Amino acid sequence: MVVTGASTGIGRAIAGKLAEAGSCLGICARDKARLEKAATELRAAGAKVVAIPTDVSREEEVERFATGVERELGRTSVLVNNAGVGRFGSFLDLTLDDYDRTFAVNVRGPFLCSKRFIPDMVEAGDGVVVNIASLAGKHPFRTGSVYAASKHALLGMSASMMLDLREHGVRVLCVCPGSVDTPFFGEEGHRTPRGAKVLDADDVADLVLTAIRISDRATVSEVEIRPIDP
Ligand code: NAP
Repeated sequence: MVVTGASTGIGRAIAGKLAEAGSCLGICARDKARLEKAATELRAAGAKVVAIPTDVSREEEVERFATGVERELGRTSVLVNNAGVGRFGSFLDLTLDDYDRTFAVNVRGPFLCSKRFIPDMVEAGDGVVVNIASLAGKHPFRTGSVYAASKHALLGMSASMMLDLREHGVRVLCVCPGSVDTPFFGEEGHRTPRGAKVLDADDVADLVLTAIRISDRATVSEVEIRPIDP
């Protein structure tokens, strides 16, 4: 099973739940030290872990990651496209670099990883792809024009992938969380959802594991998850 962006936040929580379930895990993120720390903790929880520093927006790095995972763990049956970044600001202030970098990680990344891992799933007639989008891909908010556009794109790609792939036994699920308590908002000094009720990363991880485990006769194609009493 592969989780991208697994060193912190939602990806780390999903990897943790998969480790507790005894999974073999291929994990990636860019920062080597944080990734290694996560790998050590996941191994302590009982998982076999392959951790390779990777920028999911770079094709050659995705190839190196996938090759390393396959060499150690064999075929990947579950791919969680979780790695993502947020650049926020008024449309007047956001730059082309903000747009390019956000789309590179949030859209090109899932595309590249899916293109690399799905063919083996199709050959086996079995697999699950989970794309972590956002409620920002459905509802407008100030400062979100670039981030929301990237998540709208991921939602659209996921929905079409689901239609293309289910007849091959590959299930594609798009998860749209509301605000989750992770380091995500710290990065750019953007509005921390401090004070507001937010989800815990484990809430999203529990949802993902539940969706993965349903009967292989069925596919959950899209789920929204939000805090109660916001
Ligand atoms: P986070 O704590 O900042 O974690 C992001 C993870 O992705 C980190 O492991 C980060 O590690 C990795 N990453 C970032 N850019 C990458 C790249 N180019 N290649 C590979 N890995 C990369 O954020 P999070 O809140 O858990 O977010 C995870 C996903 O959930 C994102 O797609 C985000 O858009 C989505 N989401 C978050 C919220 C929220 O409120 N937190 C709500 C809805 C959806 P490195 O920096 O070391 O690469």
